[in-house]
Amino acid sequence: MSEELRNNLLEVHERIKKAAERSGRSSSEIQLIAVSKTIKTSRIEQLVNLGIENLGENKVQELAEKIPCLHGDINWHMIGHLQSNKVKYIVDKVTLIHSLDRLSLAEEIQKKAEQKNVYVPVLIQVNASGENSKFGIEPGEVENFILEVAGMDRIKIKGLMNIAPFVDNPEEVRPVFRRMRELFNRVDNKYSGVSMEYLSMGMTGDFEVAIEEGANMVRIGSAIFGSR
Ligand SMILES: *Cc1c(COP(=O)(O)O)cnc(C)c1O
Repeated sequence: MSEELRNNLLEVHERIKKAAERSGRSSSEIQLIAVSKTIKTSRIEQLVNLGIENLGENKVQELAEKIPCLHGDINWHMIGHLQSNKVKYIVDKVTLIHSLDRLSLAEEIQKKAEQKNVYVPVLIQVNASGENSKFGIEPGEVENFILEVAGMDRIKIKGLMNIAPFVDNPEEVRPVFRRMRELFNRVDNKYSGVSMEYLSMGMTGDFEVAIEEGANMVRIGSAIFGSR
């Protein structure tokens, strides 16, 4: 079991490295978030023992249950849709929320962060594919959104996140990733207090294309743990 995990991880690292090189970067510039949703903690622990420090979950309850079960220096990432009434369970426990996609959620994060006296790093989830995906700020609305959130002192905008549509051939979503990168560059350094550090895009089916187009954070589940 652990051998399989080890081999999968080595292969993912190798693929990240090659894609980074194709984009003129080194693999040290790409952060791997291992997506551990639905995976039981004993298996996640094996991965942590292989050196993984960043874990991503998409459900608050699962995340809150897993956090106390895993020890060591783990950075937890909330990557899934976040309901406002669940913010309180994770706001002081996660390293990064990838899925800030509406003002009401920002207001709730600000409120709970104030109560718990923490600062919360977030990424703005962008709906860059033009399809009527359920979540994400429209690309043309991102700058307005940044201005609205910029007044909330407990929220630290650290970058952008995107979930590309599922396609058979990842080349089909290359333009989506490229649009994300352009938006990321345009916004970077434009607003005080907002630093575009992370561009979180790319999953098992498309992470190499995402890296080639400029992702510096990839969220990978099934290529590491096997299909769910
Ligand atoms: C599940 C999930 C991933 C990882 O998906 P894989 O295809 O298993 O790599 C990445 N991002 C989000 C938001 C997810 O929900």
